[in-house]
Amino acid sequence: MLLISSIGLGLIVGSFLNALSFRFHTGTSVMHGRSRCMRCGHTLSVFDLVPVISYLALRGRCRYCGVHISIQYPLVEIVAAALSLGVYLTTPAPLAYAYWFFVWLLILFIVVYDIRHTVIPWSCSLLLMALALMYVFVFHESLVESLFAGPALAAPLLFVSLISQGMWMGWGDGVFELSLGWLLGLTAGLSALMIAIWSGAFVGVLLVLTHTMGPTRRQAGFTMRSELPFAPFLALGAAICYFFHVDLFTQITTL
Ligand SMILES: [Zn+2]
Repeated sequence: MLLISSIGLGLIVGSFLNALSFRFHTGTSVMHGRSRCMRCGHTLSVFDLVPVISYLALRGRCRYCGVHISIQYPLVEIVAAALSLGVYLTTPAPLAYAYWFFVWLLILFIVVYDIRHTVIPWSCSLLLMALALMYVFVFHESLVESLFAGPALAAPLLFVSLISQGMWMGWGDGVFELSLGWLLGLTAGLSALMIAIWSGAFVGVLLVLTHTMGPTRRQAGFTMRSELPFAPFLALGAAICYFFHVDLFTQITTL
């Protein structure tokens, strides 16, 4: 019963996150009133707003004007539901669930926002930092070591931003990694960072290859200089290490 509720809650919150990702910092009020189609402006009914199901039922199109609805809507709803379920399975106690669910939603929001607007809002970074520090101070016995994890993991990214003046890597990524380091601790955090770098490099190379070999080379113009948002990979690595207890380093030492 609680399992299903946690999935349902994730879906609903995910659909709210979608709306927020389009409206936040864009001059449109979050409490805009009812949702509207972005093209025809038709007010959407309750039946158009059921998470995932509406998208599938309408086959990804607006009921009124037929415009394609972004795949972002069902994707974010599904990811939010998976996060909610994952958090419930990892930390089912109500207070811990509330804390981690909020943390992961904030991380999801940062990722969606970074993909959509290629920038991480400072308010979100600072909020995540505050939540991560709260976790370090309340739950960690070895305070110094836990406090050290954030800056230690963020330093290489900030260094890359510094020498390239934010060209190869945005400053927001290092700041984001600071919070992830505090949340995961040193060894799991380092594992997450390595997964992020591997998967980011893999996708980056794939994009360069497909665009230099494909016929759309000139129009697309994707080169190594193009800024690939890195926050999604950092979050992916963190999620793998957090939910599946992947820790490359303690496993190596216990072998
Ligand atoms: Zn429409």
